[in-house]
Amino acid sequence: EKKMKSDIEIAQETEMEPISQIAQKVGLTFEEIELYGKYKAKIPFEVINRIKNRSNGKLILVTAINPTPAGEGKSTVTVGLADAFNQIGTKTMVALREPSLGPVMGMKGGAAGGGYAQILPMEDINLHFTGDIHAITTANNAISAFLDNSLQQGNPLNIDPRRIIWKRVLDLNDRALRHITIGLGGPVNGVPREDGFDITVASEIMAVLCLATSIDDLKARISRIVIASTYDRKPVTVDDLGVSGAIAMLLKDALKPNLVQTIEGTPALVHGGPFANIAHGCNSVLATQTALKLSDLVITEAGFGADLGGEKFLDIKTRQLGSTPDAIVLVATVRALKMHGGVNKNNLKEENVEALKIGFSNLKRHLENMQSYGLPVVVAINQFASDTAAEINELMRLTEALHVPISLCQVFEKGGRGGIDLAQKLLPLLQEKTEFSYLYDLNESVEEKINKLVTNIYGGSKVSFSAKAKRQMREIEENHWNNLPICMAKTQYSFSDNPNLMGAPEGFEITVRELIPKIGAGFIVALLGDIMTMPGLPKAPAALKMDVTNEGKISGLF
Ligand code: ADP
Repeated sequence: EKKMKSDIEIAQETEMEPISQIAQKVGLTFEEIELYGKYKAKIPFEVINRIKNRSNGKLILVTAINPTPAGEGKSTVTVGLADAFNQIGTKTMVALREPSLGPVMGMKGGAAGGGYAQILPMEDINLHFTGDIHAITTANNAISAFLDNSLQQGNPLNIDPRRIIWKRVLDLNDRALRHITIGLGGPVNGVPREDGFDITVASEIMAVLCLATSIDDLKARISRIVIASTYDRKPVTVDDLGVSGAIAMLLKDALKPNLVQTIEGTPALVHGGPFANIAHGCNSVLATQTALKLSDLVITEAGFGADLGGEKFLDIKTRQLGSTPDAIVLVATVRALKMHGGVNKNNLKEENVEALKIGFSNLKRHLENMQSYGLPVVVAINQFASDTAAEINELMRLTEALHVPISLCQVFEKGGRGGIDLAQKLLPLLQEKTEFSYLYDLNESVEEKINKLVTNIYGGSKVSFSAKAKRQMREIEENHWNNLPICMAKTQYSFSDNPNLMGAPEGFEITVRELIPKIGAGFIVALLGDIMTMPGLPKAPAALKMDVTNEGKISGLF
């Protein structure tokens, strides 16, 4: 087995093109983009407005089976597939989410693709990039500061400090901040109350930024955000605090899509990054829309499995985007399917065709789910060096028996060249007319919508609601928030709310612990199982391997 270079070694030895050259490939001049150094730029609103009446390119959504903790290669396939399409002469752009420092420093590592299918400059993209996530953190925490100041200044809004749902955020995994007490130290130091931190990518501000279509829309969404209730149980909004304009101002640059490039010089918009397990899981509507105007084809990705990011892309994001995908790529790996077939995480490199056959049930359910939206699906096997011919052949046989196209994708090892077969299998599907249908109608009740998600997508048999969730459901009705889509917060490892239930479990019951109205984003979050909106660090965080030299050269970032 030959030794493959690490992602960061490959990234560092690639010679990038100046970002103005990348912009030229999509018809934007040097004057039109806002430079953030040599290799990053933002697309300003003048450009977005100038191109907004153009017709759209085609859209491919990349999603996946339930992953192992390492990820199954959606970003890698997204990047490599775009490079492949450009190699065969289809003008293609990538639209991806921005990485969060939580998983970068914690467990998962990078989120800029892998091998020879990466977006660059990968160090910057994985670290502070153009500062969008910091701006989101600051905007979120500014609302907290204005709220606590309102309590301090005589509480003119009659806010019940025990019923504040707005939390502070930080873009790190820091479990010690989940529950905190603030305002201690006497009258000059604020009003004591319980608070807590979420990770920034779970913040409603992140969701709002990713769904907004203009600065005005951003401001309107911010103004609607519900942060607390009064002593007589009326919702309190950011608008009541009088700071909607100031918060939108803090986000004016963060709202502009970021332009970067792949290893092969394909233009990529990398913008916005809500997690798919605790938030809606897709890059920004503005970036996807802009890419659709600038190129003939856009490859985009939704986080985690098709039960989370994929479903949310289709049921939440497309309603704001105004267009739906033309085809779906479902990424699968031999190793994850073996895990779904019962193999222990430490033995996934050993050949095991029998386990793969059992684990195929996971792929099959995701396939049927995505087809139920009326969209054509192609399976992409993201090939790992440890996959054996017998395993790959069996996976191909099982998928072809379902009359679904499947392609062995080798973009990690070969770059775009390794994705040409996948691109060629997708091309004819892009010409077909799709009959898209949503999983649920917005005017169905919250309970009906959650029931459909659990029974039709997850394969569960029954939903129950905690006493708290039942009370919240009544409040949602009283406030006329029923007709919003649902954003499920659930483990990414299983169709169920139990991370250890592998494959395609059936007959399980799901308990909705809590419902959180996100009125600015325009959805209701349903918390399932023991999912946490502030992750913790593992025993040996990825950070232990990271370093920087005196010259500023980074190592260990994957
Ligand atoms: P996802 O987007 O599904 O979370 P990524 O594309 O980010 O997955 O890949 C997760 C990790 O796995 C990355 O560190 C990447 O370098 C690595 N990886 C992806 N594909 C392969 C492959 N075919 N062989 C080896 N490593 C891979």
